[in-house]
Amino acid sequence: MNLVRFMNNRVPSNKRYQPTDYEHAANCATHALWVIPSLLGSSVLHFLSEDQWERVSAWLYGAGLTSLFLISTLFHMYNHVLYLSRSVEHCFHMCDRMVIYFFIAASYAPWLNLRELGPWTCHMRFSPLFHSLSLPFSLSLLVSRYKLMELICYTVMGVFPALVILSMPDREGLCELLVGGACYCLGMVFFKSDGLVPFAHAIWHLFVAMGAGVHYYAIYRYLYTPAANQMKTSR
Ligand SMILES: [Zn+2]
Repeated sequence: MNLVRFMNNRVPSNKRYQPTDYEHAANCATHALWVIPSLLGSSVLHFLSEDQWERVSAWLYGAGLTSLFLISTLFHMYNHVLYLSRSVEHCFHMCDRMVIYFFIAASYAPWLNLRELGPWTCHMRFSPLFHSLSLPFSLSLLVSRYKLMELICYTVMGVFPALVILSMPDREGLCELLVGGACYCLGMVFFKSDGLVPFAHAIWHLFVAMGAGVHYYAIYRYLYTPAANQMKTSR
């Protein structure tokens, strides 16, 4: 089967790639699929919470996770079935990009809020959240047309809090965090491959979903299950 007919020609790095109808549909489906599971997963964390910090972290993380998939689905659906004007599309596009920064910060929130951090890094507890709120507004407007710049920003935003987490005396869950991070990094190859690989953006979506799934599992298992809570109190 000739898969090339499923994609359009590549465009210069400062132009937006136009997906084919097939690619549009795949872009919608690959994130829409995860909206309900994200809501359910967030609710599970909420109901497992035993104190205020756990509840706040569950809400923050759940908001980041669900809004990532929801905004992305709305953005791709708007482009696919309801395109009205360039300015509305631009607005959706900005939201789609900004929510990624919020999602990255939200993914770290449970670890930074619920784990004991090293003495040199505990004052950095809130820095990912601060960056997620301050950076997107300035950066999204500047770099959304340049995918390489965008990727560099996501990587800096994703790696910086990881350095804080490495200072945790308790290393449980670190392996899963690295595996999830590796999924995002592998996915970035496809984020840059529109017009080279058919369905590249949908494949990027799947890697994001995979990374988020692994990170959710780690948060659930090491921070929220009764066994994890028992470990915390016995220390
Ligand atoms: Zn997308």
